[in-house]
Amino acid sequence: MTRRIVILGAGESGTGAAILAKSKGFETFVSDSSSIKNNYKDELNKYNIEWEEGTHSINRILNANEIIKSPGIPDTAPIIQQVKDKDIPVISEIEFAGRYSNAKMICITGSNGKTTTTSLLYHMFHKAGKNVGLAGNIGKSLARQVAEENHEFYIIELSSFQLDNMYNFKADIAILLNITPDHLDRYDNCMDKYIDAKFRIIQNQTDKDHFIYWSDDPILKEQINHRTIHATKNPFSVEHSDFTYKLGNKIILDGGNLSIDKEFVKLSGVHNLYNTMAAITAAYLSKLSPMEIEQGLNSFNGVEHRLEYVDTIHGVRFINDSKATNVDSCWYALQAMHNSTILILGGKDKGNDYNKITPLIKEKCTGLVFLGANNTKLHQFFDGFNIPIEDTNNMTDAVVKAKGLAKSGDTVLLSPCCASFDLFTSYENRGELFKQSVKSL
Ligand code: ADP
Repeated sequence: MTRRIVILGAGESGTGAAILAKSKGFETFVSDSSSIKNNYKDELNKYNIEWEEGTHSINRILNANEIIKSPGIPDTAPIIQQVKDKDIPVISEIEFAGRYSNAKMICITGSNGKTTTTSLLYHMFHKAGKNVGLAGNIGKSLARQVAEENHEFYIIELSSFQLDNMYNFKADIAILLNITPDHLDRYDNCMDKYIDAKFRIIQNQTDKDHFIYWSDDPILKEQINHRTIHATKNPFSVEHSDFTYKLGNKIILDGGNLSIDKEFVKLSGVHNLYNTMAAITAAYLSKLSPMEIEQGLNSFNGVEHRLEYVDTIHGVRFINDSKATNVDSCWYALQAMHNSTILILGGKDKGNDYNKITPLIKEKCTGLVFLGANNTKLHQFFDGFNIPIEDTNNMTDAVVKAKGLAKSGDTVLLSPCCASFDLFTSYENRGELFKQSVKSL
């Protein structure tokens, strides 16, 4: 009997899932309540996959045996409620793709650092000549790669939204970088639900699998003590740990069996040391040689919009950290700054508490530029700090004003603490405009 699969949402993950479902002989239908990009339409047509946009044909959807849901659609969406009322299983694209692959799955989650760690690990494997795919939130979807390519390893970035609809998928190596409050609007404002979602990354693991986590993270520390964990635990820590720790200028793993010189790490900031340690541990457990690990580290220059060096103009360094959309990531960015810094911040505030960055702002910032449609909250918080402040709702103007506050040797850092949607289409758009404005100074 042909089984009927409906895919809700036709972005990269939905289109990939449709291609895989079709190739496995399912009756496949794609439904997207908004418009589908032309390149995805062309592909669906090429594979003879039926699709609709701007609507959901409810009867057809409720006739499915299984639904694959795009991570962007919340559980509260009316269509999902209707599907659940009929007890139709709802899974994620990663769950579906995992059924058709015997590759080693290395999965990364956490509130911050996922893309950096995933990209670094992929880079190490790729540079070492491994047959590896990069999937999840970045690049091509896992389903597409399982359908069209055949990799031995996959390095997969998983958001909590993807993890929500994963049930039988198993990570051979799971990395949980950190947990801080994020996306709580999708979890009934309940931190425990968000934490549970993150811990789904280790579900189905056995003692042959590995669980790598940051053992200094206060939430993780507490959770590890009361959860049943079947995988072999590989904590990492900058202070101390059984498996991985940093000593002076070395990163030491496995009780000294692997020692990597810190000079190979090209990324700046203590947060990137954590990300690097997680990646090194996974690479080591996957039997990459010390030389391969060092070469991977040494040739990795970071990811766009994350502490990305842009240029030095009249002695002023410009750094683009547009991806810092919450206070925690700005804290790490400021932590990585050495000299006096002009910080550009602002945007769509997600209920920010700026107390966390106050000590670092007082210590390192010689100027602040507020960049948002509404800067009132920033003024209320920072105006009494005795630090020069400029205000704007325009990126070019923000860069000019920041340059005006800087002297040779200073750094101008865009690390906004906020989402970008008040003035820009995305954090990428915000970062691009920052770079263009710097280049045209
Ligand atoms: P994610 O994919 O989880 O959003 P990224 O690698 O894209 O994470 O980094 C986003 C921002 O978070 C960066 O701009 C950086 O300032 C901050 N960041 C990166 N790694 C960490 C970490 N391990 N801990 C805290 N903050 C981090």
